[in-house]
Amino acid sequence: MAYSYDPQNIFARILRGEIPNKTVLETAHTLAFHDIRPHAPVHVLVIPKGAYVSFDHFAAEASAEEIVDFHRACAKVCELVGVAPGDGFRAITNTGAHGMQEVPHYHLHILGGRTMGPLVI
Ligand code: C5P
Repeated sequence: MAYSYDPQNIFARILRGEIPNKTVLETAHTLAFHDIRPHAPVHVLVIPKGAYVSFDHFAAEASAEEIVDFHRACAKVCELVGVAPGDGFRAITNTGAHGMQEVPHYHLHILGGRTMGPLVI
Protein backbone atom coordinates (compact mmCIF):
# COMPACT_ATOMS: atom_id res chain seq x y z
CA MET A 1 0.00 0.00 0.00
CA ALA A 2 1.36 3.44 -0.95
CA TYR A 3 1.87 6.10 1.70
CA SER A 4 -0.48 9.08 1.56
CA TYR A 5 0.88 12.39 2.90
CA ASP A 6 -1.44 15.20 4.05
CA PRO A 7 0.27 18.51 3.12
CA GLN A 8 -1.99 20.35 5.60
CA ASN A 9 -0.68 18.50 8.66
CA ILE A 10 0.68 20.78 11.37
CA PHE A 11 4.35 19.91 10.85
CA ALA A 12 4.07 20.57 7.10
CA ARG A 13 2.67 23.98 8.06
CA ILE A 14 5.58 24.54 10.49
CA LEU A 15 8.02 23.64 7.70
CA ARG A 16 6.34 26.18 5.39
CA GLY A 17 6.68 28.85 8.10
CA GLU A 18 2.89 29.17 8.54
CA ILE A 19 3.08 28.25 12.25
CA PRO A 20 5.91 29.38 14.55
CA ASN A 21 8.18 26.95 16.35
CA LYS A 22 11.02 27.12 18.85
CA THR A 23 13.82 25.84 16.66
CA VAL A 24 16.74 23.96 18.22
CA LEU A 25 18.49 23.11 14.94
CA GLU A 26 17.89 23.33 11.22
CA THR A 27 19.95 21.52 8.58
CA ALA A 28 19.55 20.89 4.85
CA HIS A 29 17.00 18.08 5.34
CA THR A 30 15.96 18.27 9.00
CA LEU A 31 14.28 20.57 11.53
CA ALA A 32 14.30 20.15 15.33
CA PHE A 33 12.12 22.18 17.67
CA HIS A 34 10.81 22.15 21.23
CA ASP A 35 7.52 20.28 21.72
CA ILE A 36 4.74 22.72 22.68
CA ARG A 37 3.46 20.33 25.39
CA PRO A 38 6.69 18.95 26.87
CA HIS A 39 6.52 15.66 28.78
CA ALA A 40 10.00 16.12 30.29
CA PRO A 41 12.43 18.98 31.00
CA VAL A 42 13.89 18.26 27.56
CA HIS A 43 11.37 17.37 24.85
CA VAL A 44 12.48 18.05 21.31
CA LEU A 45 10.87 16.84 18.09
CA VAL A 46 13.13 16.08 15.13
CA ILE A 47 11.45 15.97 11.73
CA PRO A 48 12.67 15.47 8.17
CA LYS A 49 11.82 18.28 5.76
CA GLY A 50 10.63 15.74 3.21
CA ALA A 51 7.01 14.57 3.03
CA TYR A 52 7.16 11.32 5.03
CA VAL A 53 4.23 10.24 7.17
CA SER A 54 6.03 7.92 9.54
CA PHE A 55 9.24 6.20 10.59
CA ASP A 56 8.65 3.28 8.24
CA HIS A 57 7.87 5.60 5.31
CA PHE A 58 11.06 7.59 5.97
CA ALA A 59 13.18 4.46 6.43
CA ALA A 60 11.83 2.91 3.22
CA GLU A 61 11.82 5.89 0.86
CA ALA A 62 14.12 8.70 2.05
CA SER A 63 17.47 9.12 0.31
CA ALA A 64 20.69 8.09 2.04
CA GLU A 65 21.57 11.78 2.29
CA GLU A 66 18.29 12.59 4.09
CA ILE A 67 18.67 9.63 6.44
CA VAL A 68 22.24 10.52 7.38
CA ASP A 69 21.35 14.21 7.77
CA PHE A 70 18.40 13.31 10.04
CA HIS A 71 20.43 11.10 12.37
CA ARG A 72 23.41 13.46 12.52
CA ALA A 73 20.92 16.25 13.38
CA CYS A 74 19.51 14.07 16.19
CA ALA A 75 23.00 13.63 17.61
CA LYS A 76 23.66 17.37 17.37
CA VAL A 77 20.35 18.14 19.11
CA CYS A 78 21.28 15.78 21.96
CA GLU A 79 24.54 17.67 22.34
CA LEU A 80 22.88 21.11 22.11
CA VAL A 81 20.27 20.32 24.79
CA GLY A 82 22.87 18.62 26.98
CA VAL A 83 21.54 15.05 27.18
CA ALA A 84 24.28 13.18 25.31
CA PRO A 85 27.06 12.77 25.90
CA GLY A 86 25.72 13.04 29.45
CA ASP A 87 22.89 11.53 31.46
CA GLY A 88 21.12 10.17 28.40
CA PHE A 89 17.67 10.40 26.87
CA ARG A 90 14.79 8.43 25.40
CA ALA A 91 14.03 8.58 21.67
CA ILE A 92 10.60 7.38 20.59
CA THR A 93 8.40 7.56 17.53
CA ASN A 94 4.68 6.88 17.52
CA THR A 95 3.43 5.31 14.31
CA GLY A 96 -0.09 5.05 12.95
CA ALA A 97 -3.31 4.33 14.83
CA HIS A 98 -1.92 1.63 17.13
CA GLY A 99 1.11 3.80 17.91
CA MET A 100 -1.27 6.70 18.66
CA GLN A 101 0.53 9.00 16.24
CA GLU A 102 -1.21 12.41 16.30
CA VAL A 103 0.68 14.28 13.60
CA PRO A 104 1.08 12.40 10.29
CA HIS A 105 4.57 13.69 9.52
CA TYR A 106 7.45 11.54 10.78
CA HIS A 107 8.94 12.87 14.02
CA LEU A 108 11.31 11.52 16.63
CA HIS A 109 10.68 12.60 20.22
CA ILE A 110 13.89 13.21 22.19
CA LEU A 111 13.06 13.21 25.91
CA GLY A 112 15.49 13.88 28.73
CA GLY A 113 16.43 15.92 31.75
CA ARG A 114 15.04 13.33 34.17
CA THR A 115 14.88 9.57 34.58
CA MET A 116 12.17 8.32 32.24
CA GLY A 117 11.07 5.31 34.23
CA PRO A 118 10.16 1.99 32.66
CA LEU A 119 8.77 1.91 29.15
CA VAL A 120 4.99 2.09 29.56
CA ILE A 121 2.91 0.50 26.87
O1 C5P B 1 3.82 11.30 18.36
P1 C5P B 1 2.65 12.23 18.26
O2 C5P B 1 2.16 12.42 16.85
O3 C5P B 1 1.53 11.84 19.19
O4 C5P B 1 3.21 13.60 18.81
C1 C5P B 1 2.87 14.85 18.31
C2 C5P B 1 3.58 15.87 19.16
O5 C5P B 1 3.55 17.11 18.50
C3 C5P B 1 2.93 16.08 20.55
O6 C5P B 1 3.90 15.82 21.57
C4 C5P B 1 2.53 17.57 20.51
O7 C5P B 1 2.67 18.22 21.74
C5 C5P B 1 3.47 18.13 19.45
N1 C5P B 1 3.05 19.36 18.77
C6 C5P B 1 3.92 20.45 18.76
N2 C5P B 1 3.57 21.60 18.09
C7 C5P B 1 2.38 21.69 17.48
C8 C5P B 1 1.50 20.58 17.47
C9 C5P B 1 1.87 19.41 18.13
O8 C5P B 1 5.00 20.39 19.33
N3 C5P B 1 2.05 22.83 16.88
